[in-house]
Amino acid sequence: MKFGGSSVATLERLRGVAARVARTRAEGWDVVVVVSAMGGTTDELVAQARALSAAPPAREMDVLLTSGEQASMALCAMAVAEAGAPAVSLTGAQSGIVTTNVHTNARIIELRPFRVEDELERGNVVIVAGFQGASYAGEITTLGRGGSDTTAVALAAALDAERCDIFSDVDGVYSADPRVVDDAQRLERLAYEEMQELARQGARVLNAQAVELARRHQIAIYARSTFGGAAHTRVERADGAARARLRELSAHGVTGVTGRKDLLRILCEGACCGGCAEDVLEALSECDVLSSGIEPRRDRFDIVIATENLPDPAGFAARLEARFVEAGLVVRDGLGSASAVGLGVGDRPAALLEVLGVLRAASIEVVTSFTSREAVTCLVPVGEVDRAVQLLHRALLEVPAEAAA
Ligand code: ADP
Ligand code: ASP
Ligand code: MG
Repeated sequence: MKFGGSSVATLERLRGVAARVARTRAEGWDVVVVVSAMGGTTDELVAQARALSAAPPAREMDVLLTSGEQASMALCAMAVAEAGAPAVSLTGAQSGIVTTNVHTNARIIELRPFRVEDELERGNVVIVAGFQGASYAGEITTLGRGGSDTTAVALAAALDAERCDIFSDVDGVYSADPRVVDDAQRLERLAYEEMQELARQGARVLNAQAVELARRHQIAIYARSTFGGAAHTRVERADGAARARLRELSAHGVTGVTGRKDLLRILCEGACCGGCAEDVLEALSECDVLSSGIEPRRDRFDIVIATENLPDPAGFAARLEARFVEAGLVVRDGLGSASAVGLGVGDRPAALLEVLGVLRAASIEVVTSFTSREAVTCLVPVGEVDRAVQLLHRALLEVPAEAAA
């Protein structure tokens, strides 16, 4: 059971979470709980670091940010004990989560949950701090924003769990962020590939790395609300029939629309750029790269990265430009994206044409566009992201099937 920031934002909510956990254990389950920092805490810590330092060291960011989850794990253990179930809290490192040595954006490379298993054996509910691990060098690391989801799925896989419930403030995954699109519909089920692409392109209801892990280990994820009833979305393997059904659901097989607001486009053209592509890619090796086009013969490359997990995005862009100034490298910031996501959507040129058409008709500048198998994505000015998402949702998911035909 994973509870996100809003679910543990106040002591009152923590009590509610604890009661639910105790009830679940009373039903006879062994329970491992993963908690996020109390809502808003991580953002506050990031703001404090940036106020103190123009370029906060990534290592210290990790030490700082993990303190948020550490506070909530201990408070949660206390609350669960008060609710009548014996509980013990463990940090990511204590839980055996070993990661790469990449500060602020680490990946889990191994999970040895002996301590967790021992504590379950003793009859305890185990409360694990989400979003964190330790590298082989013993350094504290974090898994990128939203990384508590990843902790939960990784533990579910390592413990051979029956199920992995991810609780947040929405009762599932919707066809768009319900805060942005009023008519967004909850999806009953969703294929891993679609959810992973939705998350990569900005739907933060589940974390992309978490979904990738779930797919690899075939763990079904249930996204549900801490505050609501039984409604949920099941993220699972799409068998052939489900794929066919999903495709029929909407125009071009689009299941969801999403946006993100933290993109940089790195562009380099001209003779001087020849040869520097490798160095630039090396410099981006720890970033979340969303698209990269390299044309060695034309001395041109065009790369889009997400900056959410960089300790100082503005400084990063400035340093990159300065380092490759002679090659003519240009970084454009202030960009976001709007994506249409669905199984195989990227394989259908008509889907890209329709997305471009919708944005053009609304005079939204499309800086560039790219496709992956499960998505069509347009880069747009950050101020246009919400409007683009609303328009795409209306055009692709709200128009009745007969009208679209
Ligand atoms: P938690 O803190 O519990 O991890 P998050 O804030 O990370 O929760 O994720 C839940 C939020 O994700 C919702 O409040 C919602 O605004 C947002 N969201 C974005 N896209 C979607 C979507 N497609 N479906 C549901 N929620 C979405
Ligand atoms: N507290 C971290 C964040 O806000 C991790 C998480 O909530 O999953 O991103
Ligand atoms: Mg989250």
